[in-house]
Amino acid sequence: MVTPVRRQYLDLKARYPDAILLFRLGDFYETFDDDAKLVARELDIALTSKPMGSGGRAPLAGVPVRSVEQHLARLVGRGHRVAVCEQLEDPRSARGLVRRGVVRVVSPGTALEPSLLEAGESAACCAIDLRRERQTLQVGLASADVSTGAVFLMQLNGAVNEEEALWERVERELARLGAREIVLAEESPAPPGIALALARQPARSFRADQAEREIEAQYRAPPAAFGLEPESPALGAIGGLLSYLRSTQPDASAGVIESVPAAGSHLAHLSAPRWIEAAGRLEWDRATARALALSDRDAASSGAGGVSLLEVLDRCGSGPGRRWLRTAIGAPLLEIERIETRLDRVEALVRMPQLRRAVSARLRGFPDLERLLSRAAAAMATPSELARLARGLIEAEQIRLDLESSGAAALAALAERLGPAPEAAARLAQTLAEQPPSDYGMGVILAGVDDAVDAGRSQVERARSRLRELEQTLRDESGIDQLKISYHRSYGYLIDLSRGQAARAPVSWERRQSLRERERFSESRLRARELELTTAEQRFADAEREWVDRMRLELVGQAPTVRRAAGAVARLDAASALASVASERAWSRPLLEPSGRLEIEAGRHPIVEAASAAGGFVPNDTELSDDGLRGAQLLLVTGPNMAGKSTYLRQTALIVILAQAGSFVPAQRARIGLVDRIFARVGAHDELSQGRSTFMVEMLETARLLHGATARSLVLLDEIGRGTSTWDGLAIAQAVAESLAGGSGSERIERGPRTLFATHFHELTALAGSLSRVANAAVEVAEDEDGEITFLYRVRAGAADRSYGVQVAAMAGLPEAVVERARTLLAQLERQSGAAVQPPPIPIPAPPLRLTPMVDPIVADLAALDVDGLTPLEAISALYALREEARTELRGARMDVASEVGS
Ligand code: ADP
Repeated sequence: MVTPVRRQYLDLKARYPDAILLFRLGDFYETFDDDAKLVARELDIALTSKPMGSGGRAPLAGVPVRSVEQHLARLVGRGHRVAVCEQLEDPRSARGLVRRGVVRVVSPGTALEPSLLEAGESAACCAIDLRRERQTLQVGLASADVSTGAVFLMQLNGAVNEEEALWERVERELARLGAREIVLAEESPAPPGIALALARQPARSFRADQAEREIEAQYRAPPAAFGLEPESPALGAIGGLLSYLRSTQPDASAGVIESVPAAGSHLAHLSAPRWIEAAGRLEWDRATARALALSDRDAASSGAGGVSLLEVLDRCGSGPGRRWLRTAIGAPLLEIERIETRLDRVEALVRMPQLRRAVSARLRGFPDLERLLSRAAAAMATPSELARLARGLIEAEQIRLDLESSGAAALAALAERLGPAPEAAARLAQTLAEQPPSDYGMGVILAGVDDAVDAGRSQVERARSRLRELEQTLRDESGIDQLKISYHRSYGYLIDLSRGQAARAPVSWERRQSLRERERFSESRLRARELELTTAEQRFADAEREWVDRMRLELVGQAPTVRRAAGAVARLDAASALASVASERAWSRPLLEPSGRLEIEAGRHPIVEAASAAGGFVPNDTELSDDGLRGAQLLLVTGPNMAGKSTYLRQTALIVILAQAGSFVPAQRARIGLVDRIFARVGAHDELSQGRSTFMVEMLETARLLHGATARSLVLLDEIGRGTSTWDGLAIAQAVAESLAGGSGSERIERGPRTLFATHFHELTALAGSLSRVANAAVEVAEDEDGEITFLYRVRAGAADRSYGVQVAAMAGLPEAVVERARTLLAQLERQSGAAVQPPPIPIPAPPLRLTPMVDPIVADLAALDVDGLTPLEAISALYALREEARTELRGARMDVASEVGS
């Protein structure tokens, strides 16, 4: 036999096998068995044990109720799911076993607690459904950010032999959505390389019929209303997602006692699903994001250990603004019209600095309307959160007036969405106390708002004053002047006396509590007054809660209006952040066009520029075009190490990303033909952890790039072919450059990706002479008579004359003797090979690459010879025939070479 509490625990635990069950026992949340071991380890708290009837002892670890929030945050932050079980009745009045039930399940992707959320980041729960159809893989992705209510759908397709690339795209989308948790069907394998909390749902919730039912139940509309095809993986994914979200809801049966924050449904306020078009945005891969240090995570893992683009831009005053900016930078657009709308907003705020300052002042610390709305909808918002939500909406209305009186046409559309605030917001803002107390019945609502509330308040006041009167009466009766009535959480109201005074207490008083210094008593009139007061307080609390709840529901009923205002605040905040950066750093508005051109005048690297002293960064121009007519299609950038080559490459990509995200750019002038994909192989990445050599990774990425780049792409290659021998490296670098620039014998009509190709192989500069779309540029250095060099960071047309390797080594502080020796060796080598040390140039154009090896006819003939069956005479004549064949072949080859050299 186990104890009844143990039985109750085991029953509940069986319903939440995948979650840590926090089981409320008095002032503690306890965990048992394996949960206890896990929790003790994760929270670094003591593991003990408790007798459990004949079942023996069970491991036990607990946390005090008061500090549960912080422990929850830690557990969920580590990817665990936690089911919170409360006492559903007051233990003091319960008869027998206290009723208990799970009131909420908190998981990384379903948290609504501010302590579990980053203000500037989305927190999504994403379900994935993978289908294999003959030669294609289809991934359906459904995402819900329950903290904001935003729901998205996506479908990504790929060929079966490109599974790795497909998963990388999925990973990128998950990062863009801010995924915290992945929902998968029970038996489907976890996506490779995705380190997020996993939740499993029965496979049937991903089936079309079940998914349809979930959607009908959630949205009261059929899947087709949201563009969901029957049997599609996206339908499966949203089915799995909704059923998972439902499973983290509180027990339907769980009524909740007063002291526990009422958990509501985080399903109630989900918005209708919106499709994200996979092809509608500027794309890049993981290596590119890291090379460009776009977000803090990219910057941290880029090895540059530095500042991210987002950090440079983030002057946002609010969480929603920060989230919007993150998404904008993470998914720049391909539609000029939408980009221009964003740019118009930034420009308006650049041109009107006074308006910008007024707007940023209002937006500093602006309430997170979306998340507050979600908490309100889930009945989790405290009175002060409701006050912030309501006042935020009123403030948004004020911002609308600011914008309107500025007359800025570009901001009119946002202004219109900022107000007017829903009536319920105005009522709440006016009637909630300036700083509402944490709970109802404590004066959440101002006087004169609601009759029932006012009546409740005066009853409480009357009961309090009667209690004070009783205090005086008791003093008079007992003659103890210092007598006090005090309140204790577990004993209620008691007569409080010092030890000395206690001796004079009348015998009719019951002693309830003895402490070292004090004695506490109860008395029949006191009990009556206490009942009167607690009843009044209860009524007052109910009246306040009822009133606020009416307003809350009314406001939640206006969710679309609130969301619209929230979205406008986020956009305005981001636009004003971008405008501040633009005007401080003299950025300019880019010109976007549907062409293959890219022209940047006096471009700078936004991150390096921000870190440099004023005027310390040397601006450079870039001119590229897909046809090689206005600027090269492929620009070979040479120059010594540390000269600024990779900075130049990176700044070009960052300017494109900023422009297509709708930001001004660090350049005097920029004309940008829309870019569909960016491939950046810049800076060394070490992926040895994956068991692949750096060279292998480089080649894999290069392969992907050559397959994936289109004529609208931007390609940045830095020091390709470095990880192997010089000859190999040079050969590979040249072949890649040729292929990007149209390959051998290319015609002018063809277009290629705009490419910056930085290399230390000076031999490659010869390509400019043979391929029309290739040109050379060099990053300048100045060398004085002593052979000391100074970096000028200026990119000029033409090839660098030498590599200055030894000089750079000297600057880096290599010992004098080593540098001297290197100088001597270099001079020696240069003498031996005539001029500069160079591997012999590879003939241009190089032979075309063939996928299937061509078999030489001579080899074929040889293989066909039946040597055993030949007479000696037949053998000799076969040999003559073969020699003749070989000679003809050789003559042909010589003529080919001659004609190539002549051309
Ligand atoms: P490379 O790729 O040629 O080895 P980098 O691009 O890494 O060189 O540049 C080396 C350093 O020079 C950078 O860390 C940066 O601080 C500085 N630098 C690069 N370009 C510029 C520039 N245009 N103006 C000022 N400093 C620059």
